[in-house]
Amino acid sequence: MKTYDDAVSIIREFIRIDTTNPPGKEEAAAVFLEDILKREGLHAEIHAAAPMRANIISRIKGREKGKPIILLGHTDVVPAREEEWTVHPFGGDVKDGYIYGRGAIDMKAQVICQLLAFVDLARRGVVPKRDIIFLATCDEEVGGANGMEFMLDRIPELKDASFVLSEGGCLIEEDGFIHAQVSVTEKKLSQFVVKAKGTGGHGSMPHGDNANEKIIEASHRILSHRWPLKATPITSAYLGGILGGRRIGGARFPGLKDALKAPKWRHLFESNEIYNAILRNTVTLTILKGGEKVNVIPAESSATFDARLLPAETHERFFRKVRQLAGKDVVIERIGEKISEPGPSQYNTVYFQGVRNCITSLKGDIPVLPFVTTGATDLRYFRDIGVPAYGFFPVTLTKEEHMKMHGKDERISLENIREGLEGCKSIVNFLASGSVP
Ligand SMILES: [Zn+2]
Repeated sequence: MKTYDDAVSIIREFIRIDTTNPPGKEEAAAVFLEDILKREGLHAEIHAAAPMRANIISRIKGREKGKPIILLGHTDVVPAREEEWTVHPFGGDVKDGYIYGRGAIDMKAQVICQLLAFVDLARRGVVPKRDIIFLATCDEEVGGANGMEFMLDRIPELKDASFVLSEGGCLIEEDGFIHAQVSVTEKKLSQFVVKAKGTGGHGSMPHGDNANEKIIEASHRILSHRWPLKATPITSAYLGGILGGRRIGGARFPGLKDALKAPKWRHLFESNEIYNAILRNTVTLTILKGGEKVNVIPAESSATFDARLLPAETHERFFRKVRQLAGKDVVIERIGEKISEPGPSQYNTVYFQGVRNCITSLKGDIPVLPFVTTGATDLRYFRDIGVPAYGFFPVTLTKEEHMKMHGKDERISLENIREGLEGCKSIVNFLASGSVP
């Protein structure tokens, strides 16, 4: 299978282009993709938003005008600390059946599988019903101002898309049971810094106005709060599809709403990182700064929190609670006030059914369920303006592999490349067919 070998070597080369964001420097990645498209006789345009920060777009013309379908990906990756890795994070090494590298899962392999599925349509001379657009953006990991936001301004037609496919869901294997997560919504980013001021002084004479102590007390109160577990139609459908029929202590899963009232089921939800994160607001302390010398009381210190809110939560309600928990000795500053409030994409659609058919034809009769992505993706830009947007890459990951996404030794198996390529081709064929609206 030639395209599979191509996919493996292209993904390895793509990983070797260091697009750590910040600073990004994704132009090299855009040029790399442009070369592949040009070799296939496809026209591609590079749109640079800033020096070295570039996006790339290519198109296969459809029979009908307007409302294109977009295969979306991002070319940047989060930083990797080389000393923590067992291989070079930008080496693209293959070891024990896996390709290792920053971006293997998030999301260079998916970009290449989507690209090759797109190229495959062109090679076969398929004329899709609607224009199919391949779009790879920069800057996704730091908010998308140079990437998706820039491209929506530059090419307003993108706002008129009928459907967008990108990252956010996959096939998950847990206890020998596989299900598909097709993401139709995502949690909302709500990051903030807690700052304290105090009085400097000598460590030998505590005076009760220590900035570090104020930060620790406020942070402790924020982190001790148990945000309520909440059922939504999407999480009810998702967890119902996985847990329906399952028993705990002889009792059958009673549906999410009732399960949330039962201590045994609540324990199951809270002890699984994914279930916990899709059922409540989460608040994670990620950066602590304060003090430089062992005998000096610092006059300033700060704690930075990465919070992710349930789609139905409002930033205002959330921050009211955070301020109340933090108390009067500290101030709270939000990071990034320009925050979107995207509604979920519908999942009783031709697109969801089409994706489900592709999955069941490849994987058999497994549950294909709507999902809420815990991270933020470029899809929020489309959901914000009402364009149906799903996050799905047809590869089977264990929960542990999934959790490596922004961590050390990120990797994707060669078997995943095989299924990702086959699955993307199947989905892109469906999107090119006459059955899309
Ligand atoms: Zn990503």
